[in-house]
Amino acid sequence: MMRLPRFQYYAPRDIAEAAQILNSEGSDAMVVAGGTDLIPNMKRKQQMPKTLIALRKIDSLRQLTNGSGLNMGAGLSLTELVRNDKIKSDYAGLWQAAAQVATPHLRNMGTLGGNICLDTRCSYYDQNYEWRKAINYCMKKEGEVCWVSTGSKRCLATSSTDTAPALISLGAKVRLTSADEERELLLADLYQDDGIDYLMRRANEIVTEVILPDSNNWRSTYWKLRRRGSFDFPVLSVAAAASMAKDGSIEQARIVLGAVSSQPLVCEKVDEFLQGKKLSDEVIEEASLLCGKVARPVKNTDFNPAWRKRAIIRIATYALQELRGDDMSEQRLKIARHIL
Ligand SMILES: Cc1cc2nc3c(=O)[nH]c(=O)nc-3n(C[C@H](O)[C@H](O)[C@H](O)COP(=O)(O)OP(=O)(O)OC[C@H]3O[C@@H](n4cnc5c(N)ncnc54)[C@H](O)[C@@H]3O)c2cc1C
Ligand code: SF4
Repeated sequence: MMRLPRFQYYAPRDIAEAAQILNSEGSDAMVVAGGTDLIPNMKRKQQMPKTLIALRKIDSLRQLTNGSGLNMGAGLSLTELVRNDKIKSDYAGLWQAAAQVATPHLRNMGTLGGNICLDTRCSYYDQNYEWRKAINYCMKKEGEVCWVSTGSKRCLATSSTDTAPALISLGAKVRLTSADEERELLLADLYQDDGIDYLMRRANEIVTEVILPDSNNWRSTYWKLRRRGSFDFPVLSVAAAASMAKDGSIEQARIVLGAVSSQPLVCEKVDEFLQGKKLSDEVIEEASLLCGKVARPVKNTDFNPAWRKRAIIRIATYALQELRGDDMSEQRLKIARHIL
């Protein structure tokens, strides 16, 4: 049986108190929301905070307000997002992403904030302590070498969050709160391409809110490939969103790839290529090939990287066809095992 290491536990009732505790406890403290990722990681000794600051009792983190866009508290559970009619109708890509995270039980516990701050994953790292010790650990924790690429100077662990690519494609911002400051940044800028320091969040900051702009004229979609159809982390994903003119041409597009890099990969070249064009079969083919060129899957998750690179082209094609308005239920059933 894997036991949790000892830790001190706080359960503050408001954000200010939580931020204060985080500030005073320093880098030995971590916040915990649903605990669906952090608690197993602690049992495997991948993350060993001496102090846990629970966010579950902070009501203000569970608010969802609907103005010109949508303000979502970081403590909302993924189930609450999936049950929200506005998200389903106006931000379909986010809805599809949240609906495909893990299992119903985990979505009941897992939160939006925890999902966007999710630790990066790697088959040499997502193992118990003894397994990792047997290979002398790796650069991400306690070791020196990266087993995926022994020449690499940085960890290549994979960003595996489902909601972040969808949210970035929708132009989401994130609010970060510390004891002495509050700041807002584009969610895309929360990430960097480093499997260890994958977040630009400062150690004393809490993600308090995710803000979506008005969905006017925007359509969005999220496609995910995973090993097990019932539930699993993505081995690749494509989030696509676009604002469409009345004649069907694209005013602005944002295509974001998940699980092929240590951060959600914003495909600016594809976005530029799509601007002003209608989604004809030829345009979709060209854009999907471009997605395949941008992606850099490595050998640290299920499936061969070269195959995943090819599969991206197919999944991007499906995403863009759905964005065009095609009925993709047959392909959805094949890939996601249910119609989304
Ligand atoms: C079997 C299994 C399958 C899974 N499948 C998927 C999947 O398909 N897709 C997927 O995306 N995830 C998956 N997960 C991971 C996880 O369940 C979800 O990502 C979930 O949304 C995490 O949220 P949480 O609230 O439980 O996070 P926690 O475990 O509480 O925290 C995760 C990380 O985020 C930090 N954090 C949490 N909230 C905040 C905040 N407000 N501000 C700053 N930092 C914060 C924590 O410190 C920690 O580092 C799976 C997990 C399991 C066990
Ligand atoms: S990518 Fe390399 S350093 Fe990072 S977790 Fe995997 S083996 Fe470790």
